Amino acid sequence: MPETVVIGQKRVLQTIAGAVGSNRVPHAYLFYGPDGVGKRAVAIELAAALLCSSPFEGMSCGRCSACIRVRRLGHPDVKLMMPVPKDTPVEAISERLQLLAGDPYATVDFERRPNLDSIGGTSNKQVMYSVDTIGKDLRREMSFKPVEGGYKVAILTDADRLRTEAANAFLKLLEEPGSKTVFVLTSDRPNRLLPTVRSRCQMLRFDRLPDEEIASAIAERLNLPSSTAKAVARMADGSYSRAVDLASSEELFSTRSAVLEFMRAAYTGDGVQVVDHAERLQRMGRDPLKFFLQLILGWLRDLLLYRSTGDKTLVVNLDQIESIHSFCQRLPQARLESMIDLVEEASDLVERNVNVKLCFIVLAQELGSAMRGNPVGGLVVSLSDEPLIA
Ligand SMILES: [Zn+2]
Repeated sequence: MPETVVIGQKRVLQTIAGAVGSNRVPHAYLFYGPDGVGKRAVAIELAAALLCSSPFEGMSCGRCSACIRVRRLGHPDVKLMMPVPKDTPVEAISERLQLLAGDPYATVDFERRPNLDSIGGTSNKQVMYSVDTIGKDLRREMSFKPVEGGYKVAILTDADRLRTEAANAFLKLLEEPGSKTVFVLTSDRPNRLLPTVRSRCQMLRFDRLPDEEIASAIAERLNLPSSTAKAVARMADGSYSRAVDLASSEELFSTRSAVLEFMRAAYTGDGVQVVDHAERLQRMGRDPLKFFLQLILGWLRDLLLYRSTGDKTLVVNLDQIESIHSFCQRLPQARLESMIDLVEEASDLVERNVNVKLCFIVLAQELGSAMRGNPVGGLVVSLSDEPLIA
């Protein structure tokens, strides 16, 4: 078996190897499925398999010059494109392609990562394919004969960003394909593509990756301890790219320790500490705040699962199994279901722009009381946006 950089996705890889091996590759594929599961990585592997000088049963060898250049995005017959904000300089695009050449799973698109220096954030600019990019640049590119006499492959990532005009220009290209031309479209929102584009593509579904596949890949590639890799994998919801982003961000680890400190303050009922935490939380943006609450929920669900089953393989925050175990030992009376309700209520309130500081002070009081096994009332906010009352 040749080595591949693709994580999991056996079914998809077999389908593609079958098509390449039997010379029945369609003119256009649409790879669709959740973000971060390897659609782009497989598209690059498909290009490598098509251009490889010694393919093995429809798969790329991964070692010949063609394979290496395809993977490094330096092959003259393979073009990888992404939608961009208006007036994006060419250098900004090549910078992102370079990152992809190092890791096909890197988050590089302008929508999810408008600024390369940080992960996350949202673009306030429209990110899309322009009609010129498709109707002129890509058209010209595809009209040249293959430099190396094999296939010509164009990969259009986030193809749902082909808006009407650009999509129509693309349709024209599809209608007059060269005999050895292959287009690969990827999308996590295939329903937004023009039906006329969709219907001309062979659709291939990508599923979420199992936690174990993400964990072992991330442990190996990022050199993480296996317990951390497992914890990150379980939070990533089947997306390898999300797992990498989580593992590389300070955010995850600092927020997790903030969660534990907040829970400790809630339990001890130390007013000064609670107010201190609430003030810090108030200064966070809404997204980090939601992430904070999401982590509390994850932690509480772990406690509930562990307390009812004693099975640590079910725990998401596996690297914190000791604190989970000791919580369950020391506070067997804690009303975990009520605590989950409280945190869910707080998440709703945060969405509705309540006074964050008061919300968290009340949340801490109620959580503390639930940890001692006392009944809780819930967080109450008046409809007139008055401050919270307990
Ligand atoms: Zn090869």
